[in-house]
Amino acid sequence: MKPATANAARDVFARSRRKMVENFVIARGIKDERVINAMLYVPRHIFVEEALQPQSSGEYPLPIGRGQTISQPYMVAFMCEALCLNGTEKVLEIGSGSGYQSAVLSHLAERVFAVERIHELVLRAKKALDGLMCPNVVVRLGDGTLGWKEEAPFDAIIAAAHSPEIPPAYIEQLKPGGRLVLPVGGNDNQDLIRITKKPFGIQKEVLRGCNFVKLIGRHGWKDAT
Ligand code: SAH
Repeated sequence: MKPATANAARDVFARSRRKMVENFVIARGIKDERVINAMLYVPRHIFVEEALQPQSSGEYPLPIGRGQTISQPYMVAFMCEALCLNGTEKVLEIGSGSGYQSAVLSHLAERVFAVERIHELVLRAKKALDGLMCPNVVVRLGDGTLGWKEEAPFDAIIAAAHSPEIPPAYIEQLKPGGRLVLPVGGNDNQDLIRITKKPFGIQKEVLRGCNFVKLIGRHGWKDAT
């Protein structure tokens, strides 16, 4: 585990975060201890505006501006667990939003390459991640439906926004044996799926239902409505 959070002494939300992890992560079936420890450790409140910080340990998404939300804690844990990370991986994260999940992933993988389409969110996520000293995360502005060709292939790819189909770049940019976890479907009917790349094709598993914002881009939805 990395050194303590930037301002451990001022981490007044440590207790409520522990409750969050006990009640909404462990009690709901998450078993991967690395995921549990990362979520205990990363100060979720830093990723929302000050007025919302008292709610930052709740089991719900919170607004982060521009119509986007920080994902609910259980879903972050569930997706991270589904990626089956052991700390050696190169991960691509699409839709980094607040940067919270990027920070959690920074404890679970060797390197994290995060893409976000809204400039303001990129700047805020970078600032929060810098404050927490997460040198193994790079966040860039771009259309994440294209993946990140220059850094491919990846051991794992995660998207926190739903698309009508799987963007082809994700399969192309996955290593053999690599895992892709993402929501697929329409506004009211999405499945969280896991794709595992096999030597000759892919294996697809439907993990559960879910409710994410739209993945907007060339191989996603064309607009926000
Ligand atoms: N895990 C993030 C979730 C953010 S919500 C968090 O906890 O904060 C999903 C994010 O996906 C939004 O910030 C949205 O702007 C972003 N997004 C949507 N389409 C995208 C695209 N084509 N490329 C990159 N990011 C995208």
